[in-house]
Formats: sequence, C-alpha cells, structure tokens
Amino acid sequence: MKFDAVILGSGLGGLQCAYILAKSGKKVCVVEKNIVPGGCLQSFRRKGEVFDTGFHYVGALGKGQILEKFFSYFSLMDLPWVQLDTKGFDQIFFGGKSYLLQNGFENFAEGLSEQFPSSAKQIKAYSGFLKEVGSKITDPLLKPGDGFFSVNKLLGKNAFEYLQSNINDPLLINILSGNSLKLELRKETLPLYTFAQINSSYIQSAWRLEGGGSLIADSLAKSITDMGGEVFLGAEATEIAEKDGKAEYVSVRSRSGKDPERIYADTFISNLSPQLTLELLKESSCIRPVYRRRIQKLDQTYGFFTVNIRLKDGTIPYRNRNYYCYSPDLDCVWDVSSEADKGRTKGMLISESVPKGQDKRFSTNIDLLVPMDFGQVAKWEGTTPATRPQEYKEFKARKAEEFIKMADSCIPGLKAAVQTYYTSTPLTYQHYTGAVNGTAYGIRKDCNNLLMTLLAPKTPVSNLFLTGQNLNLHGVLGVSVTSFMTCSDILGKDSLVSFLE
Ligand SMILES: Cc1cc2nc3c(=O)[nH]c(=O)nc-3n(C[C@H](O)[C@H](O)[C@H](O)COP(=O)(O)OP(=O)(O)OC[C@H]3O[C@@H](n4cnc5c(N)ncnc54)[C@H](O)[C@@H]3O)c2cc1C
Repeated sequence: MKFDAVILGSGLGGLQCAYILAKSGKKVCVVEKNIVPGGCLQSFRRKGEVFDTGFHYVGALGKGQILEKFFSYFSLMDLPWVQLDTKGFDQIFFGGKSYLLQNGFENFAEGLSEQFPSSAKQIKAYSGFLKEVGSKITDPLLKPGDGFFSVNKLLGKNAFEYLQSNINDPLLINILSGNSLKLELRKETLPLYTFAQINSSYIQSAWRLEGGGSLIADSLAKSITDMGGEVFLGAEATEIAEKDGKAEYVSVRSRSGKDPERIYADTFISNLSPQLTLELLKESSCIRPVYRRRIQKLDQTYGFFTVNIRLKDGTIPYRNRNYYCYSPDLDCVWDVSSEADKGRTKGMLISESVPKGQDKRFSTNIDLLVPMDFGQVAKWEGTTPATRPQEYKEFKARKAEEFIKMADSCIPGLKAAVQTYYTSTPLTYQHYTGAVNGTAYGIRKDCNNLLMTLLAPKTPVSNLFLTGQNLNLHGVLGVSVTSFMTCSDILGKDSLVSFLE
C-alpha cells in the first residue's frame, strides 16, 4: 500500500500535518497505536462523565487571534468552545492571598497594578512586552530565511533572569509566573521565548472545550478521511525501513489484523518523540551515532500526576476559571519543578470541566494536575496497566488524598464534595502516548544550549520529518505552529500560510 505521505502518531501534531497535506491534495495515511486518536488530547469516559487527560484550556482563540486563525483553517471553530471569565481566567493562590489575572493586555496590567501600585510602570512594560512577543509567533512561518533558528533572540534569553531584571517585587514575580504550570518553570534553562509566548496567548483570551479534548482529535480525523485520507487506529509503527538513504516504508503491528503490515510512502512524518523515532529507524545509513547519542541524552520536562474528580451534585459552584494553588511554605513558584525533582509537591493546577446540561451553576468534574518527576514511579516501569502491583495502587491512592487535601485549601469544601476519582501518573502517559518518562511538555528547551535542545522538522533522512511538541513550543498553540513548520518544509511555505497574513 503506497501513499504520498504517512504520518506516525495521531497526536495533535500528527493529525494537523495529515490535515494540511490532505488539503493540499496529497494522499495521506495516519498510523496510531491506540484505538482512539489524539494522544494527549484524549478524553476518557467513566459512568457517563467525560474526563480530560492532557488538554484543559487554550489561549488566543478570540476572533482574529492566532489560535483562532489556525483553528478556522482546521475547521475546529464550530466545536463548543467556552470562554473563561475575562475578569479572572486564572486565579493564583500564593502566600495566603489570591490574585485574579484578567484578559486583554491593558486589563491584565490595570488589574495587577491595583494590587501592586508601586510596580504599575513595570507591569505595564511587562504586559506590552508580552503583547509584542505574541504578535511575532508566526514569524518562523512568514519571514523569509531560516526562520526556525533565527526566529527570535528571546530563545537564547533566560526567562527567570528577565523577570528578575525587570520586576523589583519578588511577590509580583510569583504572581506573573503563577499560572505557568502549563509550562515547566525552570530557573536555569527556560527560554524567555517559551515563557512569553505561552503567557501572551492566554492573556489574549482563555477557552475551555465543552465535552473534552477528544472532540478536536475526532474532528480532525473525520476531516482527514473526508478528504480521502486514511486513519488507521490500533496500528503501531514498529519500524521505519530505509533504502538508498531514504525512508521506504513503515512496518505496522495492527490490533485488528486488518491493516496493512507495510505502508510505503514518498514522505514520512513522525509525531512520536524524536527518541522513539530513532528507535524505529533501526538501520540507517543517514543517522550518525553522534546524532543518536545527542537525541537520546536530551532531558525531558516533568510529567503530571492527575486526579480526575467526579463531584457530588450541587456541591461546588462552577467558577469558569482555573486555579493555581501553591503550598504556604513556598517562597518562589519557580521552585516547583526543582521541588518535584526531590519528590515534593509545592504547586498544582486545578481545572474544572464545563458543567453538562443547562444548569451551569455547579461543577461536575474537577481535575488536579500536579507536576511529578518520573523517578517517583520509575520502579514500576517494567509493569503494564494490567499488571501494576498493589504497591503502585496504594502510592496513587495516597498521593490522590494528599493532593485533594491541598486543593481543598483553594476550593473549600472540595474534599467533602468528592464522589469518586480516577488517577494517572507519568507512567500512565508513557504507556499510552509513548511520551519519554511520561513528560508533559516534551524535550526541555535550554536557553543556554539551544543548538542541542531545539530540533528542526528536517532529519538526516531526507524524506523523514518530525513534528509535535518536542520541536518548538509545546501546547496546542505551539504544536499548531510546528505543524505548519513541518508541512512548509515539505510543500513550501508560500501558499500554505497565506491565511495567516
Ligand atoms: C497533563 C497534561 C495537561 C496539559 N494541558 C494542556 C492544556 O491545558 N493546554 C495546552 O495547550 N496543552 C496542554 N498540554 C500539552 C499538550 O497536550 C501537548 O503539547 C500536545 O497535545 C502534544 O501533541 P503532540 O502532537 O506533540 O503529541 P502527542 O499527543 O504526544 O501524540 C503522540 C501520538 O503518537 C502515538 N504513538 C506513539 N508511539 C506510536 C507508535 N509506535 N505507532 C503509532 N503511534 C504511536 C501516541 O499514541 C500519540 O497518539 C498538556 C499536557 C499534559 C500531559
């Protein structure tokens, strides 16, 4: 069976690349090891309730904003998007007080200036800086030349140092960074570009999806098949075979036994982690050992322990925002990740689902997302979900109780309102999506070592390309930009991205 392009993995990046190529008239095929598409976008259903895994909210989806442009292209704007409270889309609980962050750069600055009047000038400058950075997110796609590495000098700058140099009040630094568990705050390495782009997008506007992230994946998969493409589910890629210096076919292990065992194509795109991609390229005349070693050595961002809670009916009022909850003994929110390295929990993201039905007054589901280092679960790595020992189950139950108690300090009454809950760990993510060490945001980018930690879509195999969160920015917006970068390298960028101008 031969296609113009075969895409390995149906995460957001894989599906978007398949969509772009199919829309450009290519005959495409996606192979996905799981029986549902979406990777981190997957939702799961228990007793009629939908729970999300790696998708909770997105930024910049308002009319004319950048994600709205991308999602219009992908026909995703008809999904049931719900805008979060513009007067407080995120609430930070830090140091015994709470702070609301508002949408719109001016409102954001004004709201915080009321609470930090002596820093008003610095807040305004910071907000203006984020606005400027956000307006440049498509530069790598639209600007001529090698847009990837020359994209932005901010990649080589350190985010924490920037904050320290431009904001005098340490408490304000905590609040400005306090809703950033959706990226890994690491003092030594986080590029200013990553910090600023992600924060900028959410200040523009913030949105949830009623019904869960699977709706995005299902819609993209349907569009791909409607355009004549194939999406093979339960079809695991086991090898990328190379011939005469080019990828020739992908070997597939199919759960149904119905899918082809070998899929030939002119072009191959891997949405898998670069590490897994290289493992599939078992024999290659193009990949030098030094390249393999470089990829295998890359550090990963932290994973998450998640507690998906079903609440008792009518107990917790729905507040249409997210909560970022920090432990009272934490001095700096930037220490959450180094504390997680040591097995200590100092911060969490609490996200509510849009309540089902007409009555939106009360929450039905709440998710707790707690950064967790893989080391905490590594000893069970040799087991599968079916064979996890009792000790692992007890670890999960203990952690869930600890985290629910911590969340109760931000949402009083939460502990008593829990009807039931489900948990997952970095091991769960590693098993289901193939994320190395269950990483939530992929390879850790290091502003001091960009050439090693930033990867381009092109690989040493001329017709094999990479895509997904490991390359550039993570998250729904970052992955969308990268999908176009990958497809631009295949199709040329001129006609492809004209809709962004
Ligand atoms: C807990 C958590 C919360 C998050 N919250 C948010 C959020 O609120 N907002 C946001 O914007 N981002 C969020 N993110 C990040 C976001 O989900 C990711 O950046 C994005 O979805 C990653 O997409 P991807 O295309 O890179 O790959 P992935 O989603 O990792 O997809 C890779 C795919 O490849 C498949 N695969 C692996 N091996 C094989 C194989 N051998 N053969 C075939 N298929 C294979 C996997 O099954 C998977 O479907 C969150 C992530 C996590 C983990």
